[in-house]
Amino acid sequence: MKPLFPPPSPILVPIEGTDQGFPVRRILCAGKNYSDHVKEMGGDPAKTPPVFFTKPADAVVANGAAIPYPLATEDLHHEVELVVALKSGGRNLSEVQAEAAIFGAAAGVDLTRRDLQAAAKKAGAPWDAAKAFDDSAPLGAIRPGPAPATGAITLSVNGALRQNGDLSEMTHSVPALVAALSRLFELKAGDLVFTGTPAGVGPLNPGDRVSARVADLPPLDFSITEAAR
Ligand code: MN
Repeated sequence: MKPLFPPPSPILVPIEGTDQGFPVRRILCAGKNYSDHVKEMGGDPAKTPPVFFTKPADAVVANGAAIPYPLATEDLHHEVELVVALKSGGRNLSEVQAEAAIFGAAAGVDLTRRDLQAAAKKAGAPWDAAKAFDDSAPLGAIRPGPAPATGAITLSVNGALRQNGDLSEMTHSVPALVAALSRLFELKAGDLVFTGTPAGVGPLNPGDRVSARVADLPPLDFSITEAAR
């Protein structure tokens, strides 16, 4: 069968030190993985099993992008996150197997329409509109190798530090998150996992310049421009 129209091109993320791109299959995201962020969102960090949601692959935006302020929100928030990229997958992985499936790591931001998320939480409704919107996954270049388990995770807006945590503060480690995801979904090469954000999330506005840094991974910088029409 021939396609009715040309299928979309694969989403490729630059790989540091190469001219190859990492083809994205799925974007899987963990929530509530740093206790100080759980507290600032009004939750109880003592009772936080990993929670997961997804974004579409084409939500990825490259380092250096100018992102239009999204539709349908008046409270766009930043969440800086360590992102891991999988080179293999499987179901019911052990943590050792999960670690072996990791191709590399990158700095990412889980952009969130916080007003829509608050309304969804209140209504017991899905988070898709709050999390899985266009351009909601800015992502730096991927560095091949194991994911860092310690190191600073920070985000600045217009040069002012907003988020400042350490990867060692994660409630669930990267291998634990990947293993937990593999008990819900069959993971495959090309999957990206966003691993949660530390405290300090807050609003972004048109004109803002955002700098996200995770350990010594390649930098992620982007700006927010006037609203999409
Ligand atoms: Mn997040």
